[in-house]
Amino acid sequence: MITRFAPSPTGPLHLGHAFSALTAQDMARAAGGAFLLRIDDLDQSRARPAWETQLKDDLRWLGLDWPEPCRRESEHSAEYHAALDLLWQQGLLYPCGCTRRDIRDALSAPQESAPLTGPDGLVYPGTCRPAHPPTGPRPRDATLRLNMRRACAIGPAPFTETGAGPLAETGLIATPRARMIEGIGDVVLSRQGMGAAYHLAVVVDDAAQQITHVVRGEDLFDATRIHALLQRLLGLPTPVYHHHALIRDDSGKRLAKRDDARAIALFRAEGRSPADIRAMVGLTPSVP
Ligand code: GLU
Repeated sequence: MITRFAPSPTGPLHLGHAFSALTAQDMARAAGGAFLLRIDDLDQSRARPAWETQLKDDLRWLGLDWPEPCRRESEHSAEYHAALDLLWQQGLLYPCGCTRRDIRDALSAPQESAPLTGPDGLVYPGTCRPAHPPTGPRPRDATLRLNMRRACAIGPAPFTETGAGPLAETGLIATPRARMIEGIGDVVLSRQGMGAAYHLAVVVDDAAQQITHVVRGEDLFDATRIHALLQRLLGLPTPVYHHHALIRDDSGKRLAKRDDARAIALFRAEGRSPADIRAMVGLTPSVP
């Protein structure tokens, strides 16, 4: 078993991260497998080396260890470009010039029901979707969307869930085609000025690192439907997924990265121990 933790170095490590990372390492240890760290620094406008240093320091303090050097997404753009080329050659991508505001405006036209939201927010209304797949070389620095209707023609892309989604979904998860098209839609796989977008990078990374079990928060459960489809389209293996509940604050609100009050660094400064943190997130004491 190979598990991983893939934080973005854009803020402090908080309790929710600690829970995710510890769960991933505990699972790997219990199975005699390996735990890997990956730095999800795709968004170079927000990633900061100082956050990376701090989060590694907090993770080590928590008792985690991983082989170094760890994979950093910013060093693998050639692999993401190759995957984008493969999808482009299959006629599954198209350039999109819509701003967030364009999308909101297109969806605010009078209609019977409220606009649908998917894993990435509002479901794209299809403004830039061409009737026929674009020809010629792939634009190198453009926002590219996946044509979900065409992509789904490949057939179902189920995945196995050993944890649970937000609605207690577990076991073999198959997503009906209509839900992929209407409830998720044409997601962004490459962003102008940024290169690969999260959904593309995460499947390339998990395959490159031979991750067998992806352990992460249930907020990413629905995104997994996209990841399983991309794995099929790119000919990559689909790992087992284990989504866990989110750590919430006392009022039941989900912790955000900007929630500095839950930062591990603050608990450390207060004199708490790694065992205290495990107890706070509901984990049993660690077994060496
Ligand atoms: N960097 C992503 C996050 O922090 C990782 C998501 C994943 O584990 O796939 O949400």
